[in-house]
Amino acid sequence: MKLIFLGTGPAWGLPELNCNCKICLELRRKEEKRTRPAFLLKGEGNILIDCGPDIASQLTTHSVEGIDAVLITHEHGDHYMGLDELYSYKRSTTRGAFQPIPVYLTKKSWEVVGIRFRYLIDMGVIEIHEVEPKKSFNLKGFECTPFKTNHGSFAAGSIGYIIKTSDRHGKETRLVYTSDFWDLPESPQDLFHPDYLIIQSFWLNEPEKNTPQHMSFQRAMKFLKDWQPVKETFLVHIGDGDVIPGDPANAMLKKNKPADPLRPPAGGDPYHPALNQEQWQKVVDQIKFDFDLPYKIRVAHDDLAVEI
Ligand SMILES: [Zn+2]
Ligand SMILES: [Zn+2]
Repeated sequence: MKLIFLGTGPAWGLPELNCNCKICLELRRKEEKRTRPAFLLKGEGNILIDCGPDIASQLTTHSVEGIDAVLITHEHGDHYMGLDELYSYKRSTTRGAFQPIPVYLTKKSWEVVGIRFRYLIDMGVIEIHEVEPKKSFNLKGFECTPFKTNHGSFAAGSIGYIIKTSDRHGKETRLVYTSDFWDLPESPQDLFHPDYLIIQSFWLNEPEKNTPQHMSFQRAMKFLKDWQPVKETFLVHIGDGDVIPGDPANAMLKKNKPADPLRPPAGGDPYHPALNQEQWQKVVDQIKFDFDLPYKIRVAHDDLAVEI
């Protein structure tokens, strides 16, 4: 299967409108961007995971001609506000031939998403399938199992997905996508030793006040040690909330002071949070080396495509 990272940014996309923090200035200078989180799994069919406000341009970039199913992780705008864009697939189909796109999400998420997008059912664009943690379902050669995640009280329906697929020789590949989270109420067995892990890394450093509840790389290290991904880990949903030494923009609301910034185990200055893609990969590689983490960790970027 092929995994395409359509968007790897925070809820607001980077560089952010009206923001002149050091991170956004550097991203503009390097012409890098991180759009809202979305992923495409290509196997027997096209499975879209999350569908944020950038989805039309993301799917256009990759010339995606059809979507077989959508998995929505939770009821925050950056993960579902693009659902109406899927109407394009109906509009461009011969009259009467379109089959509604199945959209999978929890009942609690649909309570919120449905207020805005229920009309898409009446219009025959989508059909809703409510899912529950630990209850697997099959989609175009993928076995999908939701697991409950803690992402704060205003994302009560929040889940991640464990996705399995087998090649023609019966060899199974297991992928875990955490989406936004801070912690887990329980850890199903299949979270351990996944072949691939896609985990949020909103900040480098765990902030003093983690609201809304997201994952920092510093905090993610504990999950990496617990789960021990086998082949590769991808960091996504990367924001611009880390405090950057000497940046006057540190006073901005979105900047979060670290509680106890990550520093080498032997002591010394804290790691400098990254301003761009290259620096992110560098700092992660350094931390991996210093802490002797035996995992392959790749900082994902928009449009990264990986054959897995
Ligand atoms: Zn999000
Ligand atoms: Zn969220």
